[in-house]
Amino acid sequence: KLSPRLQAVAEFVPARARLVDIGSDHAYLPAHLLLNQHIEYAVAGEVAVGPLQNAQQMQAQFHFGSQLVTRLGDGFAVVQPEDQIDTAVIAGMGGQLINKILTAGISKRDAYTHLILQPNTDVHMVRDWLQNHHYQLVDETILFDDGHYYEILVAQPGEVQYSPAELMFGPFNLKRRTAPWQQYWQRESKRLKKLLAQMQKAGQVENSAYQAYESQLNLIEEVLN
Ligand code: SAM
Repeated sequence: KLSPRLQAVAEFVPARARLVDIGSDHAYLPAHLLLNQHIEYAVAGEVAVGPLQNAQQMQAQFHFGSQLVTRLGDGFAVVQPEDQIDTAVIAGMGGQLINKILTAGISKRDAYTHLILQPNTDVHMVRDWLQNHHYQLVDETILFDDGHYYEILVAQPGEVQYSPAELMFGPFNLKRRTAPWQQYWQRESKRLKKLLAQMQKAGQVENSAYQAYESQLNLIEEVLN
C-alpha cells in the first residue's frame, strides 16, 4: 500500500502510460501501478546504488518481467528511445534538484506528454521552470501526509505565462482553495510573522531578507483574505 503522498502522485498517472520514475528508490510507485494494471511499462531510475537495489528487490519479488526495468543513472539518462516513455514522475526531491534534472533531460523530454512532479521545496521555482520550457500545468494538488504538506504538479506541453501569485500558490490551487491549501498558507503566514518579529527585535528591518519576507507575507495575506 502506498503512502497518501505517493497514492496522490499515482492518481495523476494516465492509464496505459509508459512511465519513468526518476529517483524511484523502492520502486513503490511503478510497482503499485503495474500491480493494478494501470500502466504498460515502467523504468525505475536511480542515481544511487542502495536505492537501486531496493528497486531491484521489488522487481524480483513481484515478477514484473519485462514490464519493470531498473536502471542506474542520473535523471533522464536512464531513458532510452526504445522505452517509448510518455510520462515522467519525479517525486520526493527538492524543487531545485527537480529543475536540474528536468534541465539536463531537456532534449529527451520533448516526447513526454505528462510530467508529474512532487517537489518537497521551492515549488514556485518548478512552476517557473515549466512555463519557461513549454509546459503548462493541467492539474495540481496539495495534501497533508505524515506531518508535512506536499504539493503535486501535473504538466503537459503548452505555452503559458503565470502571474507571481500563480507561481507561488498555483493556478489551480488558487481557484479551488482546498482546506489543506488554506492550512498550509496559514501556517506559512504564521511562520513569516514570527520570523519578521524576531528580525525586528534584532534590528534587521533594513535587511533585504526582511523586506523579501515582508512582501511574501503581504502576498499571502492578500490571497488568503
Ligand atoms: N521517488 C520516491 C518517493 O517519492 O518516495 C523516492 C524519493 S527519495 C527521497 C529521492 C531519491 O532520488 C533517492 O533515492 C535518490 O537517490 C534519488 N535521486 C536523487 N538525485 C537523483 C538524480 N539526479 N537522478 C536519479 N535519482 C536521483
